[in-house]
Order: sequence, then C-alpha cells, then structure tokens
Amino acid sequence: MNTASFRGSLVAISAVMSLAFGAEAFSAGAAPTGRVQTFRIGSYNAVALSDGGIQEPNDGKSFVLGQPVSKVAAVLKAAGVPGDHFELSIQPLLVTWDKHLMLFDTGAGNYFGPMAGALPQSMTTAGVSPASVTDIFISHAHGDHVGGLITAEGKSAFPNASIHMSAAEWQFLSGMKPEDAKNVGISDITALVSVIRPKVVPFQPGAELIPGVVKAVEIKGHTPGHSGYEIGTGKDAVLYIGDSMHSYVTSVQRPSWKVAFDTDQVTGAASRVALDKRAAASGERIYAVHFPFPGLGKIVQEKGGFVWVPESIH
Ligand SMILES: [Zn+2]
Repeated sequence: MNTASFRGSLVAISAVMSLAFGAEAFSAGAAPTGRVQTFRIGSYNAVALSDGGIQEPNDGKSFVLGQPVSKVAAVLKAAGVPGDHFELSIQPLLVTWDKHLMLFDTGAGNYFGPMAGALPQSMTTAGVSPASVTDIFISHAHGDHVGGLITAEGKSAFPNASIHMSAAEWQFLSGMKPEDAKNVGISDITALVSVIRPKVVPFQPGAELIPGVVKAVEIKGHTPGHSGYEIGTGKDAVLYIGDSMHSYVTSVQRPSWKVAFDTDQVTGAASRVALDKRAAASGERIYAVHFPFPGLGKIVQEKGGFVWVPESIH
C-alpha cells in the first residue's frame, strides 16, 4: 500500500466510524419494521425490503468533504429537505427468478443499533423465509450491507444461500483486523468471516453471475472491490448501484464532491460523475440502496445538471 492510499484509508476509516457510531436514529428512534414495496424487473418479481436508516450531520467531515457547510445546506434545502443533516435509508433488494431467490445486500443486522436491522421483519411481511434465499449478492463489506448475514446468536442468517462478492472485496473483508472492522461498522469480524466463509463465492469484475439475469458491474472508489449489479436485460433492467451514491440529492446533483465514506475519494467521485452520465444517457432504471425508500428511479439530466426521479410504482 503506498502512502497516499494509506492516508486515504485512514481518512475513510475515521469517517466510516461516524457512519457506524455517530449515526442517530430516525425520529421515532427505531427502524420502521415490515416495510416493503413490490415491483417488476421484466418478468421477475422484485421487493424493496426496508432495513431502517441512518442520519449523518452536514458538518463538513461526516459525509460531504471539501465544501462549505452552507453551500451543501443550500443544495439540500433547494431539494426540499433539511440542510443540517443527511437521511439515508437502507433497503436491500429481493428478486425472484425461476428457482432463485436473490437478495442484494443484507442490511445492518445487529451492528447499528435500533435504527436499522429490520430486514427480517420486512422479509416476514413479504412472506419470504430467510432459509429460502438461494443467492446473496454483496455490494461491499461495510456493516450496513453485510451485518444481516449473521444472527444475534452468531449463526448464518441465510443458511442455504451462496454469498457472491468480488474477490477483491472478500480479500478485504476476510483480512480485516478487528479494530478496522469496527471502524466500518462490523463488530464481530471473526464470527462473521467464519460463518460466511464456506458459502462465499468470489467473482471477478464484470462477471456474468447468473447469465442473462445478474451481471457484476464494477463501480470503483467506495471500497477495494465494490460492485454494482445489472439485474435483468433490456429496457426493464435495473442497475443496483450499491454505495457508489448515498444521498439522492448531493450524490446525484454534485457527483464530484468528495465523500468521507469512500476509501478512494477521487475515484469515488469520478465513478459518480460517470454513473450520472451513463444513467442519464441510457435512461436505465436505478436501484439505490440508500436513497429514499424504495430506492427505485432514474437519473435525469436537467438544466445542465442531474436529478433523481423516483419511479412511480402502481
Ligand atoms: Zn452503505
């Protein structure tokens, strides 16, 4: 690791610490439970499953970096949301295809306290048993995405599922020291890695994971092996963007602003700029795990910039 990337990692680790430990509960003080939204991806059934959410202050260091707080607040307020903080939802995605029951990320489990970890209740509402999940696709190894893989008792939460993640991300996760893991919101790295190791199926960037159904899409910057996923084909296909974007306001409208959560902040910003351009040009459907529930919509070019337009689901 060179000095620059090491310094970048330190910045990212200290920032993610606030993601894990400085986050405040949503106003009710607990995750909304059992919240689901069904929709279609071509012929597949899909369900957005709420896991809860997190808040980050707009303080110049917890999330957006390198911009005056007042300037960031002005962008937030212009979008009709409070200027003093960011509200980020967490909603893993479930997709059914043939005999495959596929879950994209697993929420925070027991790692983030009462404001998140509601995925099991949402699955119950959706009528889906964790034991029936066949495939899990992990975007990256932060606590709010892998926490749901393990139960409070230290058992596999999805005992029959293969766990797909990029080889680089598995190397990152399985090599974490406990203190580094805590800094990315994982409180029991040894237990997590030993529970999931037999089920992890590492892949290379861009791999066709289920041909014609799920394809890995490398989106660099957030973590060493961060991956999005293309689900389905044709105009109904959905791009699951993981944590390449967090705020439906600033990540989309100011993609070049650096973000404290990114391990490589320069590359993370470049990836957001590219994603805005790609998504607006193609008109493809986007699923954003941290945008307002249910996180489905499009990125549209408007007045020389980009905006998030949620899909109206009937
Ligand atoms: Zn996240």
